[in-house]
Amino acid sequence: MSLAYVGMGSNLDGPQRQVTQAFSELDAIPRTRLVKRSSLYRSEPIGHADQPEFVNAVAAIDTSLAPEGLLGELQAIEARHGRRRGLPNAPRTLDLDLLLYEDRVVASPRLTLPHPRMHERAFVLRPLLELAPGISIPGRGPAAELLAACAAQRVAKCDG
Ligand code: ADP
Ligand code: MG
Repeated sequence: MSLAYVGMGSNLDGPQRQVTQAFSELDAIPRTRLVKRSSLYRSEPIGHADQPEFVNAVAAIDTSLAPEGLLGELQAIEARHGRRRGLPNAPRTLDLDLLLYEDRVVASPRLTLPHPRMHERAFVLRPLLELAPGISIPGRGPAAELLAACAAQRVAKCDG
């Protein structure tokens, strides 16, 4: 089994429910089980500011799927949540990003690992650090140092 981290985000159609449900759907992927779930966090949209705030979380999963197969399963879950692919950073019912797969480095047309923007996003780093306080991102360094560098981005735990 390989340990992977999945970043989750939603800002449409009941974002907390979308993300909560996605945890169970990750656990239901073949040859995969959910190991840990972070708290839910709220964050301000990046890019087009004129849209609802996001709910974000990170899941740790154990899987024997290869990274590309796992990405396909994540995209199938997004599709079931009614995800329409529009502009980058547009509102979405559910976004599932493969952040890390062990310490694999991949650069293929479909898949980049580590996720190419995770190191500069507080809404990814903060929940990731909740699950794995000492974690480092291959090629980028300790996640705690990367989070300190994006202190201007507001991220807060959701209540309850
Ligand atoms: P974003 O999450 O950046 O808003 P999308 O979710 O629409 O964008 O993903 C765009 C493309 O990114 C997908 O078609 C997918 O093939 C590609 N991609 C490359 N690397 C990854 C990764 N690590 N996780 C998720 N998608 C990835
Ligand atoms: Mg995505």
